[in-house]
Amino acid sequence: MSSSKKHIGTRLVHPNLEISKGESHIPALHLTSSFKYTSVQDSIDVFEGKNEGYVYARYGNPNVSQVGKAIADLEGFDLAEDCRGLFTTNGMSAIATILQGILTVGDKMLTQGDLYGGTTELLKKVITNEVYQTDFSDLNQVEDVLKKHASIRLLYMESPTNPTCSCMDIESLVALARKYECTTVIDNTFCTPYIQRPLNHGIDFVVHSTTKYLNGHGTGLGGCIVGRVSNQHWNRIWDVMKLTGSTGSAFDAWLVQQGMKTLELRMNRHSDNALALSEFLQNHPRTTHVNYPFLPSHHTFLMAKHYMNEGGGMLSFDVDGRKNAIKVMDSLNLATQAPTLGDVDTLVLHPRTSSHLKVDPSICANFGITPGLIRVSVGIENIEDLIEDFNQALSHI
Ligand SMILES: *Cc1c(COP(=O)(O)O)cnc(C)c1O
Repeated sequence: MSSSKKHIGTRLVHPNLEISKGESHIPALHLTSSFKYTSVQDSIDVFEGKNEGYVYARYGNPNVSQVGKAIADLEGFDLAEDCRGLFTTNGMSAIATILQGILTVGDKMLTQGDLYGGTTELLKKVITNEVYQTDFSDLNQVEDVLKKHASIRLLYMESPTNPTCSCMDIESLVALARKYECTTVIDNTFCTPYIQRPLNHGIDFVVHSTTKYLNGHGTGLGGCIVGRVSNQHWNRIWDVMKLTGSTGSAFDAWLVQQGMKTLELRMNRHSDNALALSEFLQNHPRTTHVNYPFLPSHHTFLMAKHYMNEGGGMLSFDVDGRKNAIKVMDSLNLATQAPTLGDVDTLVLHPRTSSHLKVDPSICANFGITPGLIRVSVGIENIEDLIEDFNQALSHI
């Protein structure tokens, strides 16, 4: 580790901003649609790429570049090669941009069935390239599909999955993708680069919804695309972002810049609380099943231990039927019902009537997204108060 790198927690507090002496201590917020030049020659040099500089905010803005670079530095923390990061309006636009950037006419992609609800809907309704779905925990099945369809150019995955927290064997999926010359993309929103850095395992691109843990406070939307600078797909991804206008806003970028400073503290606390709450729930007589990556009873526990350095803040548990789930959720006092995750306060959601409302019931059933399942984004509150809240809520069923 070079001395300039230090530890990841230090890098979070001190991102490489290249701010000169006398500038504001906290990065200034650049609320402008364009950037001015002192002469025509000055402008020509920037437009021709001879000099670095900002032009128009859809192409870039200091806050947007700084946060993209900061997230790229974290995802590529252990790599010898530098990474590039593009900050987008939100997670969905990061996903849409990278898919459009990599796939050209006739290209197909392969993904798993249990994706984030919005991603499944995007693939079904908007991305016109043909999409194959298979169970990514069955590597033979993945290889069969790749062998059969030579036009598959992209493998898209999510690990751990939402809301059942199943981890994928990233390295084996990357090996298959390489064998069949496919680019690999992973949604790393649930872990953040503090907990899991998929580029280390050979993944080509990471996408994020920074709306969640990277912002951490529920104050704005954002997304990010990260990959090694040498990746051949960057030119087209950049064109898609610039020309479809998926570039993130300066203010949303600035909010993520502030939020990321406490990422290490927050993720440590989210993980400690989620493990303790999942152990409590597992031992409670009213629950039938608990999903948490770092519970030894989870079927992908060993995979989670291999890829994640802590368990993260997401868990889900089953209380046997929709009626019970609704009763428990409506009885919680401390936890808030809100359809997001990764904020500092504890949030609960009923996947079958919200995030997974549009997902085919047979897919839901296959992946254990039952009517009695409650998803919890465990916050950073005192754990005793959290356990007490879930305990009293469960006493109503
Ligand atoms: C929220 C989320 C998204 C979508 O991000 P937005 O910022 O809401 O557009 C994508 N993937 C995962 C895993 C998410 O949790």
